[in-house]
Amino acid sequence: MLKEVLDQFYLDRQRDKEQNHFYITDAGKCGRSVFFKFKKAPREEMEARILRMFEHGDSIHQLIMRPLIATREVHVVASEVDIRSNELVSGRADAIISNGEELFVLDIKSMNSMIFRKLTAPKEENVYQIQMYLHFFKIPKGILLYVNKDSLELKEFVIDYNKKTAENLLESLKDLKVKIKENIIPERILDYPDNWQCRYCQFREICSLAGGGDIDWEIFEKKIEKVS
Ligand code: SF4
Repeated sequence: MLKEVLDQFYLDRQRDKEQNHFYITDAGKCGRSVFFKFKKAPREEMEARILRMFEHGDSIHQLIMRPLIATREVHVVASEVDIRSNELVSGRADAIISNGEELFVLDIKSMNSMIFRKLTAPKEENVYQIQMYLHFFKIPKGILLYVNKDSLELKEFVIDYNKKTAENLLESLKDLKVKIKENIIPERILDYPDNWQCRYCQFREICSLAGGGDIDWEIFEKKIEKVS
């Protein structure tokens, strides 16, 4: 009984979500999948179990932040820091911390043991996110702190601001905004379907129907309505 109630709670909450601006996590992502999200295109439903895992990630953030706030070794200047009003992208960094000499943007990521063990460098998509924070907060250094959800081991990587990377990411989001407005489905990611994003993509089915290049969303939408 409870399993069904809990699963439904997460599934309903997911369905209610509508996207009308970019999140920082969209930076560097497959533009086509972000486009489909904006257009509320039919997608594979995410399992309630995975949605619960996202929430579990939030409690791990608190577990990390509590001792950081209490210790004197570092100073938490601010936590849960929003990017100041920006019409293109919104996001909230976990914290801005100081070691007494420099400021750092802190981004905490949790993952399972299997992925954590293999991690020898920061994940590309996480670097993109932190580059955006560094850009908007005008802070030259960030820390990606990875937490193993199963064992609570930690790994950290210091990331230097790279202006070119941040500007390229913003440029891509601006291009994507135009495509969303003009109803042009962007082309597939270059290494489709081998890219890791395709493996976890909820839009795989309609992406394969749409073909590889840019296509008109309004025409395509009618086509998928007939199929479903
Ligand atoms: S399947 Fe791959 S290329 Fe297609 S929308 Fe998803 S991530 Fe993008």
